[in-house]
Amino acid sequence: MVQGGEVAAWRRALVAGLVLATLAAGLVGIEISRATDHTASWWPAAGVGVVALFAAPRSWWPSLVAALYVANLLANVLGGHPWDASLGLALADVLEVVVVCWGTRRIIGRHLEGLTDLAWLVGVSLAGALVAAVGVAVCARLFLGGDFLRTVLVTTGSHWASVIVIAPTGLLPHRSVRRPRAAPVVLHALLLFGAILFAFGPSNDLAMAFAPLPLVIWAGVAFGSRVVVIEQVLMASAVTILTVRGYGPFVSDLHPAGSLASNLVTQLYLVCLVVTGLPLALAVRQQLLANVAVRSEQRRTEAVIDSSTTPIMVADVNGIMLLANPAVTRLTGFTPEDLLGHGFWERLLPPEQWEVTRRAFADPDRIPQRGETVIRTAAGGERVVSYSNGLYHSPDDGSLQYVLTMTDLTEERATQHLLQHLLRSATTVAIVGTDRTGRITVVNAGAEALLRIDARAATRHSFLDFLDPDQLTLRGVAAGVPIGFETLVHDVTEAESRTRDWTWVPPDGVPLVVSMTTSVIADGSDSPIGYLFVARDVTETRRNQELLREALQREQLAVDHLRALDDAKDDFVSTVSHELRTPLTSIIGSIELLEDGMAGELLPAQKQMIDVIERNAERLLSMANDLLTLASYESPSAPVTHLEPLDVRTVVQASHASVIGLLSSRDLKLSEDLPAEPVLVDGEAAYLERALTNLLSNAIKFTRDGGEITTTVSVDRDAERCRLSVSDTGVGIPEDEIQNVFQRFFRSSNVRADAIQGTGLGLSIVRSIVERHHGDIDVHSNPGQGTTFTITLPLASGVRTD
Ligand code: ADP
Repeated sequence: MVQGGEVAAWRRALVAGLVLATLAAGLVGIEISRATDHTASWWPAAGVGVVALFAAPRSWWPSLVAALYVANLLANVLGGHPWDASLGLALADVLEVVVVCWGTRRIIGRHLEGLTDLAWLVGVSLAGALVAAVGVAVCARLFLGGDFLRTVLVTTGSHWASVIVIAPTGLLPHRSVRRPRAAPVVLHALLLFGAILFAFGPSNDLAMAFAPLPLVIWAGVAFGSRVVVIEQVLMASAVTILTVRGYGPFVSDLHPAGSLASNLVTQLYLVCLVVTGLPLALAVRQQLLANVAVRSEQRRTEAVIDSSTTPIMVADVNGIMLLANPAVTRLTGFTPEDLLGHGFWERLLPPEQWEVTRRAFADPDRIPQRGETVIRTAAGGERVVSYSNGLYHSPDDGSLQYVLTMTDLTEERATQHLLQHLLRSATTVAIVGTDRTGRITVVNAGAEALLRIDARAATRHSFLDFLDPDQLTLRGVAAGVPIGFETLVHDVTEAESRTRDWTWVPPDGVPLVVSMTTSVIADGSDSPIGYLFVARDVTETRRNQELLREALQREQLAVDHLRALDDAKDDFVSTVSHELRTPLTSIIGSIELLEDGMAGELLPAQKQMIDVIERNAERLLSMANDLLTLASYESPSAPVTHLEPLDVRTVVQASHASVIGLLSSRDLKLSEDLPAEPVLVDGEAAYLERALTNLLSNAIKFTRDGGEITTTVSVDRDAERCRLSVSDTGVGIPEDEIQNVFQRFFRSSNVRADAIQGTGLGLSIVRSIVERHHGDIDVHSNPGQGTTFTITLPLASGVRTD
């Protein structure tokens, strides 16, 4: 706002100054011609008034015109003209100013930019001068007794010269193309005034009016319109003043100063000065502006070519390279130094093509406009490019030039080949591409085979035509999405594909199950441009899988059934054993009473039979006990053994003590081999004693007299385990039966043959106990030589961490 206010104030001051200058110029005009005539021979007030109007905005014009009228009136009155004449003369002057300004604004605008503008200004100012001349002549005739025609001629000349000289100062080009240096301008101004003084000075009688002209031309060519306009105002003032003073070539005895001829020649001379210097300045300015425009256009073109990602080369008619932009270097690796000055084929084409290409340039019609070719790179590689070739006239010298642009297609072609190869070769995999709506755009050989349709026919279909409609509906409803192509692709994103079994229904109607991966084809933006479906026929696989699943289901049912039977059998055995125990105990008790003679003394035969009954009853009781023990160990509800650290050596000693009774009637050697240090395991003593006692009693039972039984304990610190083995030199176990020894009720053939009694449950109990202690049991046997059972137990946790 402040700045705008300052500008307006500055402008008001300028315009006010110009109004005052109009007054002064009017006075000067009257003064310089006072001696000779009642009408002014030069009227600078007209030019100054025009400049004042140019300097003011349109809105000021009415009041400004009034002010100019007053200024002209005052100048006339003060210059000595009577009031009535002054009123008319001032009106004529202001009318001229208005005509010139109005005409200039309409036709030229605010600035003199070229020769046409100047021509218009010459015309408009002549029209204004004529208007003024007629007005002044009327006044001169009416009030001053002047000659009408003579006044018209003089006034036309004086006003025209005034406006044409001064008005351009208000129409200067708004942008200076070049800024002349001060020293040459000052030198030129001095020379110019020297020339004017020489031509129009008091001491010169020669007709030297042309003398300043070369300097005017020099100014027009060298300094621009601003300097020319200012100089021509000063020059016109000087010429006029000198001439009316009676000096210079336009005054003679025949035509003294102020004479019609002198005035007209002077004014014509001034107009000539203007139309010599100013057009030159304007023409040079236009030329410079055109040069600037051409240069900036050239720079822009160069920048566009340099920054273009398209490789561009320019060659002359012979194919010699004149220009290669940086994109060419990026594509080929050749620098401009490598390329320029050579036929382009020398670098970019293989030698066998050089001659053909060079000859082709002899006849431009043979040079292809566009095409695809392979070019070489500086690194010895190859690039596939498409090129287009245009023939132009060089803007510099009009010569013919080729402009060659290239597009690198190497990756595209490689991808294309790869894609075609993929599409052709993948016959076991079906590939279907669709657009966004599901219309098929491409299918490979695999898809042709699975859909039983050829590629051309497939592209007339929507992919939905090949899907099972019932399955589509079910899945669409389940997913809560519209039934249709949306059902197929709703859960696929650019980042994530989806694989699922789908049923395809080819046109021949035999459906097949495919495992199909759906993925999005995107164009780099967020929106998909299509979808890709890659599918594999899994009909056979799925059928086999279904058969397998059904078989497994049936087997599971059978296993469950067997397990239930097994459980029922176990329950039965356990119940029967339990129920047997009570009567057996009572039978054995009764037998003992009979043996003790409670029912009278027994006869030897009775005693013998009672012994048999007792032995078998005890055997039966032992079997019932064993069965119950085993059932309790193997029952899922059996209490978990309470394990605590104990010394295996104590277990061995306790077991040996419990079998001592069995050895009383036998000739067997029972020994033990125990470490000196305690061997601690986490276990329950009663159970481990039972297991070891079972092994020892078997060893005693199956070893003939004279044999040996040894119990050994050893420790494997590395494995953090201890081994407890019972070896005998007994009958052994046949090799082909040894894998069955831990099965319930198993008894080896040799034992059965020898009628050695037993239930076949002892080792099952041993294995159960060992497993409950997280151990293993193993057996090695040589029939006829002996058997070794080895129990391996983990060392007690406290010992292991030591
Ligand atoms: P039982 O001793 O009551 O027959 P076990 O389950 O203890 O039942 O043993 C099963 C079978 O393993 C025995 O009948 C026998 O055939 C064989 N067996 C077990 N220990 C030995 C051994 N030390 N020597 C030879 N055979 C053995």
